[in-house]
Amino acid sequence: MGLVYVNGEFVDSEKASVSVFDHGYLYGDGIFEGIRAYDGVIFKLDEHLKRLYSMAKAILLDIPITMGEMKEKVIETVRINNLRDAYIRLVVSRGKGDLGLDPYKCPKPTVVIIADKIALYPESMYQNGLKIITSTYRRNSIQTLDPQIKSLNYLNNILAKIEAVKAGYPEALILNQEGYVAECTGDNIFIVSNGTLYSPPSAVGALGGITRATIIDIAKQLGIPFEEKYFSLFNVYTADECFLTGTAAEAVPVVEVDHRVIGDGKPGPITKKIIEEFRKLTTVLGTKVYE
Ligand code: PMP
Repeated sequence: MGLVYVNGEFVDSEKASVSVFDHGYLYGDGIFEGIRAYDGVIFKLDEHLKRLYSMAKAILLDIPITMGEMKEKVIETVRINNLRDAYIRLVVSRGKGDLGLDPYKCPKPTVVIIADKIALYPESMYQNGLKIITSTYRRNSIQTLDPQIKSLNYLNNILAKIEAVKAGYPEALILNQEGYVAECTGDNIFIVSNGTLYSPPSAVGALGGITRATIIDIAKQLGIPFEEKYFSLFNVYTADECFLTGTAAEAVPVVEVDHRVIGDGKPGPITKKIIEEFRKLTTVLGTKVYE
């Protein structure tokens, strides 16, 4: 088995442990990042670290190591496990405290870095596209727990995921409290209508996805008009194309939403072009693990 970074040390993954008094475990008090390495290059590592430290600031969590040190440790975790293609999970929780809620009784946040082989979705999913449904759960309101914070409380997303899986679908679309399309359980959403690419802004109640930002840059380079816009399910059902983006899913076409066929039921030309360009960039935009 591999080695996991826990609070400054590399530990056998089978033996790595965190206290049951850690408020990450007791209360979901903490944040995380999911990062990918492609052929020895950690995709947009700096962007992921910036997002992590921004989220920590938002929840008044002082990460005990600097961003530079964290970067070194992430690279080391991939290297020490001899991985070239990996999924990296970075978790920072409030740390060990007592059974009460008070985070100021947790003197030292816990930092964990796991790098593992990735379980890629089957290629057929990318070729044929996904069929998804809309969850009956609504995205956390930005007035309660802002979905821009990738907190350890993913129950909202998990309940939507359960709903999708129980209904036989791999992913669920989640609307915000007003009924605008927000995102999926682990991905951002894009639609294409009349040649323009649209994605909801984070303020709708969605994570500011790093893959999403990459896709927007690609669209600009390809000369595809892009707009951030609030939209409803009607706009999704009647779109010409639809796709999802995320670190784990990358960019994956959607061909059916709530039994409505999107476009002609096949991944659309703009979606395919964007996915092709995205795949070219995965080993370019990042930090090399091995020199
Ligand atoms: N939304 C949610 C809820 C997610 O968990 C993720 C995965 N991190 C995304 C969107 C996509 O973000 P990214 O492209 O940064 O992985």
